Amino acid sequence: MPLEMNKVLTFNYSLKDEEGAVLESTANKEPLIFLSGTNQILPKLEEALGEMLIGGKRNIKIEAAEAYGKYDEKAVQNIKRNQFPPEAKVEVGVSYLANSPDDGQMPFVITGVKEQDVTIDFNHPLAGKDLEFDVELVDIRDATAEEIQHGHVHGPSGHHH
Ligand SMILES: [Zn+2]
Repeated sequence: MPLEMNKVLTFNYSLKDEEGAVLESTANKEPLIFLSGTNQILPKLEEALGEMLIGGKRNIKIEAAEAYGKYDEKAVQNIKRNQFPPEAKVEVGVSYLANSPDDGQMPFVITGVKEQDVTIDFNHPLAGKDLEFDVELVDIRDATAEEIQHGHVHGPSGHHH
């Protein structure tokens, strides 16, 4: 059963890759809170949470194609160092935002630096990875009219205005 619209869900999770390495976790942090139907988390994850009871725990596996997509070789580009501002830190592992043609911003990470040549990667850091989530559903409640209007959650772990 898909999750109903306009529900506020609170959950704990840890995310592991295929090798079992923990990539993200809410352990020792605030749980994650989101408004259903607003694409704030992966659709497959939202679907699975919608089938759970409060206090329930579940292991959810999501293949790369249904998570952050396949790794796209064409999203890797080579540019010249002088395309960065002179003060920019041009080192492997550093992330920047590029302006996209539609006036948005696209994040990329530097994956190679060789003298004046810089390799940059626009893939999502989790692209091409099969993901495994261990989740615990902490709470489900109806969204308030104001939250529905704003499209996000209010309150201690949500948005502050
Ligand atoms: Zn708001």
